[in-house]
Amino acid sequence: MPKYITKNLFLSSLKCPTYGHLQQQQPTQPTTSPSDQLRIDEGIEVQERARNLFPTGVLVSGSNETCINRTRELLANPEVSTIFEATFQSGPYITKADILVRNNSKWKMIEIKSAVNQSDEHINDIAYTTFVALQSGLEISSCSLMLINKDYRLGMTDDNLLVEIDLSAKVSVRANEFCELSDSIAQVLSSEEQPAPDLKWECKHCEIFEECCGEGIDNDMRVLGRA
Ligand code: SF4
Repeated sequence: MPKYITKNLFLSSLKCPTYGHLQQQQPTQPTTSPSDQLRIDEGIEVQERARNLFPTGVLVSGSNETCINRTRELLANPEVSTIFEATFQSGPYITKADILVRNNSKWKMIEIKSAVNQSDEHINDIAYTTFVALQSGLEISSCSLMLINKDYRLGMTDDNLLVEIDLSAKVSVRANEFCELSDSIAQVLSSEEQPAPDLKWECKHCEIFEECCGEGIDNDMRVLGRA
């Protein structure tokens, strides 16, 4: 098992244990197309502009160990009201919260996405971070998603760029589910034995379909998915 299980690895394993197991053995280096790069650049810009809304925020950076220790210090410092990239570990699981805002003795967690519409993947992202942060001892008052404001127009200020949606109720339910599954996923990832593949909906878009359970199945079958 790798030293840390990241959000990507956890969520991949949740969709397909075989894929998660393979990913940790041989992490894929996805090729970055120009449109991928554009999305990455947009994501970075949105993160920076979201941080501008919290001028007293403190950024955590460095190795995982450094970030975990620095986060502990900042959480314990009552003069710190906002933390960017606060890093938490619980057992093998590790995560970073985009923005944490102090709310009396608790913290509001905010995830930034360069999207205009909320999706189930966004809930999964925040739920994973919430589960790990809660398990590491953080007290959370609420969980929000910051998305691009559909009404934003060029030239408007950063205040108008993002809208915040409170997803605390949904995130709490999903974080509990993740917590219950976390031991079995860690077990799968720590096993030397690869879980046997089984044909399912996720296979349709899986990048290793041909080498996995798509071996011997022609492309038409893949298009048909589980049909
Ligand atoms: S092809 Fe299907 S079973 Fe194989 S790794 Fe991908 S999603 Fe999992």
